[in-house]
Amino acid sequence: MYLLDIIDNFGKTNNIAHIYRENILTYEDLKKKSDALAFYLIKILDHDQSPIIVYGHKENEMLICFLACVKSGHPYVPLDSSIPDQRVKRIIERSGSKLIFCLEEIVLDTTNIMIIDKTKINELISSFLGKTPDIKFRVHNDDVFYIIYTSGSTGNPKGVQITLSSLESFVMWGLNICNLNNKQQYVFMNQAPFSFDLSVMDLYLSLASGSTLFSIDKQMISNLGELFRYFSQAKLDVWVSTPSFAELCLADKSFNDLLLPDLKLFLFCGEVLSNKCAEKLLERFKNARIINMYGPTETTVAVTAVEITQKLCKSYNPLPVGYAKNDCKILIIDSDGEIISDENKKGEIYIAGDSVSIGYYKDEDITKKAFSKITLDGQEKRCYKTGDLGYYNDGMLHYSGRIDYQIKLSGHRIELEEIDNALRELNIIKHATVIPVSKNGRIHYLTAVVVLNRAFEQTDFEIGLLIKKELSRILPDYMIPRKIIFRESVPLTINGKINRKALTEELQ
Ligand code: AMP
Repeated sequence: MYLLDIIDNFGKTNNIAHIYRENILTYEDLKKKSDALAFYLIKILDHDQSPIIVYGHKENEMLICFLACVKSGHPYVPLDSSIPDQRVKRIIERSGSKLIFCLEEIVLDTTNIMIIDKTKINELISSFLGKTPDIKFRVHNDDVFYIIYTSGSTGNPKGVQITLSSLESFVMWGLNICNLNNKQQYVFMNQAPFSFDLSVMDLYLSLASGSTLFSIDKQMISNLGELFRYFSQAKLDVWVSTPSFAELCLADKSFNDLLLPDLKLFLFCGEVLSNKCAEKLLERFKNARIINMYGPTETTVAVTAVEITQKLCKSYNPLPVGYAKNDCKILIIDSDGEIISDENKKGEIYIAGDSVSIGYYKDEDITKKAFSKITLDGQEKRCYKTGDLGYYNDGMLHYSGRIDYQIKLSGHRIELEEIDNALRELNIIKHATVIPVSKNGRIHYLTAVVVLNRAFEQTDFEIGLLIKKELSRILPDYMIPRKIIFRESVPLTINGKINRKALTEELQ
């Protein structure tokens, strides 16, 4: 498979690559415009392979910029416009990017990067339209195709590097699982912002099959009425989202196969798919199949999958996450580092094989902690220590939580320690920690427990607002604790750390 050739070849058809509100991007335009922009990039960055940041939301130009970057030999770093400017600045500094495509406004008080805004992007495309970049400049097999930044426990986001061959392996496996052979072209829904690796699933399964990506934006997600009106014209075939988003839609009774009569497939990944959610979907969408997939960003979107049927819902609670893809091996390792071969015995999930990232960009220390090499069938393979707990049952992998402080909140991956660090950076705070508050086994919101370093005249409410405002400069909205509780002191463990466990029990 050569992904870029496949996508470019659809440029000879009349297929639509992307629909976002009233904006339509054809495959022909995607090819021509990404070629033009790649030609420009080769001209100005001349043999340099530094990552290029693409900042925006669901604009057509996001796709054009992604392909232009890789056609000119640069990995792209997708950053959603909901990411605060300070965090973008931090990522720019850590990535060493020399150029940022900005499809939405951003204030960057840095001179270390060339900023190309939407108007300029379109001017450049017009100037170079018709030019074809030399394919020798493209990102090749073991070159990095994209870098996705995820929350990091040290306080800095981690840049997960994914190569073209890992992406191609995911796409081939994913299309096989979709098994959508009775029609030439499909409509895939894109819900996740492009800065989350879940979006890689809909974006590249769609582009690699000449299908249409139908993007929804954050405004629609906050208004189900508007979203469902938009859905009614969508002719969606494939739904890709976190289970949380499907649950949000299921809260409205009109979310059923009358609204989405063409829907054939739900692809879920990123967090626990509950039996209740799967059962409701099977009931409301009689002709759709559900696939539960599992995998961290570090192993290219997903590495296991299983179809969730009524029978499976009755047989397992929680539901399994499935069988590993062919070129990956999933190991369950005990606390002594030994492989567990017994079924039903829990251990940490390690993933080995070609889907595993080559490591975190420019961060050897944390790369060494999470990545290693192992020998599989006589060949050395990359291996990633996930921090997830799991076990095998009936030959299928089952997920059973985390061994650390990484959580999922409405599908968002968060390292609680990153928020702790951000809180402690505020000079009014002496101690702080963040506690996830759960309801019915699912994390509902975050509460920050804070000890101030002196008495203040303002009320707790006012100080809480001030803290949230400060946090919003560096953290995305979904990482801002909903509640802030003030204490004179916090419980400590014997070795002097904040006793998160005691606080968690207290706050449920
Ligand atoms: P991300 O890197 O954002 O894709 O998050 C990866 C993490 O999400 C994994 O390490 C798991 O903790 C969790 N996760 C992914 N898929 C599933 C799933 N199907 N069921 C339960 N948890 C999942």
